[in-house]
Amino acid sequence: MSEGRVGETKGLFIVVSAPSGAGKTTILRKVLKICPNVLFSVSYTTRPPRPGEEDGREYCFVTEEAFRERIIQGEFAEWEEYSGYLYGTSAKTMKAFLEKGFDLMLDIEPRGAKALKKNYPGGVFVFILPPSINELRRRLNQRGSDNKQVINERMNRVLDEIREVVWYDYVIFNDRLESAVDQLRSIYVAEKHKRERLAEKIQDFLV
Ligand code: ADP
Ligand code: 5GP
Repeated sequence: MSEGRVGETKGLFIVVSAPSGAGKTTILRKVLKICPNVLFSVSYTTRPPRPGEEDGREYCFVTEEAFRERIIQGEFAEWEEYSGYLYGTSAKTMKAFLEKGFDLMLDIEPRGAKALKKNYPGGVFVFILPPSINELRRRLNQRGSDNKQVINERMNRVLDEIREVVWYDYVIFNDRLESAVDQLRSIYVAEKHKRERLAEKIQDFLV
């Protein structure tokens, strides 16, 4: 369900996916703290905020009507339905940040991630896995922000989501949190130093 194209951009974008409860939000928060040049791409959602979540920080929380209006206006780079709610990435915001040279991390489920991979060249795709399915269930219960029905719905999707891992560029097993944080940061640093991303700077030496 993708619309529009970012085209050639200056910033790097990293899309992070994981089955719900694998620890993606926790890892992303820590990486963003230690990588000041990286911004978090704040998605739009119709899901109600969880305790502690702030409008404009974790998500832009909007009504379904407002979300559907944005779909009609072609504002989303991609959007998807997940567990009865809508989630989408603003193409305008993404493009503006990347063109200004900021790097972005996006937290997106696999179908939306696949749409970005198809339509927005140059992204890096990272999949986070829990150490086991039992540990995933334990973490979802421990988070305490969702009721039993929501947790069961999310668990039912897990295998379908994990099957998508085959087309991602990198995989992180979130066993020890600090290692997982270090691995995501390392992926970012390595990607920033790919020769083709530094072509312009290298060219300065050659003229
Ligand atoms: P996601 O964003 O992938 O749905 P969260 O980041 O909300 O997952 O993490 C789910 C729960 O698991 C939270 O309570 C979090 O504190 C916990 N958690 C995250 N990473 C680890 C880890 N490496 N070891 C133990 N618990 C973790
Ligand atoms: P949560 O409700 O736990 O915050 O997120 C549920 C799922 O929606 C997660 O898998 C998360 O990655 C995904 N998600 C968050 N924002 C977006 C978005 O903009 N687009 C898509 N396709 N998925 C998103």
